[in-house]
Amino acid sequence: MSARIPESKLPRIVIIGAGFGGLKLARILANKPYQIVLVDKHNFHQFQPLFYQVATAGLAPSAIAFPIRKLFHQTPNVHFRMVSVLSVNTMMKSIETDIGTITFDKLVIATGADTNYFGNTSIKSMHFQ
Ligand SMILES: Cc1cc2nc3c(=O)[nH]c(=O)nc-3n(C[C@H](O)[C@H](O)[C@H](O)COP(=O)(O)OP(=O)(O)OC[C@H]3O[C@@H](n4cnc5c(N)ncnc54)[C@H](O)[C@@H]3O)c2cc1C
Repeated sequence: MSARIPESKLPRIVIIGAGFGGLKLARILANKPYQIVLVDKHNFHQFQPLFYQVATAGLAPSAIAFPIRKLFHQTPNVHFRMVSVLSVNTMMKSIETDIGTITFDKLVIATGADTNYFGNTSIKSMHFQ
């Protein structure tokens, strides 16, 4: 498989993560002279501050999750790919993903944070990724 990113003469900026940080940057760079490749393991953005409201049935999950492609479907220089990034090769200026290699001129890593369970393995086993 391949990511099938079109060839371009523009410098390619790969942004890993379409959370708050990655999405904001992609929106700033939309319609600017760069080829933006935004990748995330999900095809939706989640508004994390409202997780509590979903957990307590105050909101439906669909109220806090937005399809990433819809945000950029009228932005020709932004390409979204749903992939999991496995590693970064700084020498080759490329990332390895579950659908193959994507090269970059500039790389932005905006993959958020991992939850710290402070050794509470019973709580960790309840966590859904
Ligand atoms: C319950 C809750 C409530 C919060 N409330 C507030 C609040 O009230 N106010 C506030 O300012 N902040 C709040 N925050 C914090 C805020 O949501 C985070 O600070 C913010 O989301 C961080 O943005 P980010 O872009 O760094 O990472 P994230 O938004 O976490 O985005 C990271 C993205 O990277 C993707 N990703 C990770 N690893 C990979 C990989 N290997 N391959 C591909 N994609 C990958 C993930 O799928 C995700 O989409 C809250 C967080 C939580 C969990």
